[in-house]
Amino acid sequence: MKKTLISVGVLALLLAGCGAGTEPKAHAEDAVAHEKHWDYSGNGPTHWEEFSKTCGKGIHQSPVNIIPGKTMSMDHSYTLEMHDDITGIVKVIDNGHSIKVTPEHGGSISLHGEKFNLLQFHFHGKSEHTIDGKRYDMVAHMVHQNPKTKQLAVVAVFFEEGKANAVLEKIIDNVGGSVKIDPKDFVPLKTAHYYHYIGSLTTPPCSENVQWYLLKSPQTASKTQIAHFRKFYVDNERPVQELHDRHIESN
Ligand SMILES: [Zn+2]
Repeated sequence: MKKTLISVGVLALLLAGCGAGTEPKAHAEDAVAHEKHWDYSGNGPTHWEEFSKTCGKGIHQSPVNIIPGKTMSMDHSYTLEMHDDITGIVKVIDNGHSIKVTPEHGGSISLHGEKFNLLQFHFHGKSEHTIDGKRYDMVAHMVHQNPKTKQLAVVAVFFEEGKANAVLEKIIDNVGGSVKIDPKDFVPLKTAHYYHYIGSLTTPPCSENVQWYLLKSPQTASKTQIAHFRKFYVDNERPVQELHDRHIESN
């Protein structure tokens, strides 16, 4: 039994795109189904239910479209504090769905007094969440996990075309290797304003109860850097999902 659980964990880790690879509630049947390999073309988002039922049946899915005029004021129990400020070595891999960066010793965030550790971050060639229907030029999803409850919290950093981003440059230049970076340089200076809601992983197994924090202040990346990233991935965005009974909080 123990061996089976470990196998499922390893498989989830190998296949995780938007996910942390540590989804505690993934079912064994989901993990087996993953061997068919989901993607963004022939086995794209409309087929993901074949890989995990939650992708098709879940009603708290991500990403979503955010209409700023229809948001609610922030529930202060969800105040976000960011501590992603440890310079260190990160591994950069092309995992088949995105460019994924795994720090040896990541930083952390605090949510309502609970610490969530940075597990990995990865990129999408356009933002998955839309604001008033608009996609940003790129997005980084910084995946954090509460070590006690295993709940995930993803901080989304939007990118728009502008000045070159030094950290992004180091990452794109070192796919398949390691590089020393300071994630603090990667997060926008202004982190006080964001959208928050409860959603899901945006890739199979599409597991729910993920806390999403979308920073309103975007970072910039140069036209060359965006083009460079899109040589790896140009269409790795899941379409927006229905909000159903959820509300988006804003501060
Ligand atoms: Zn993602």
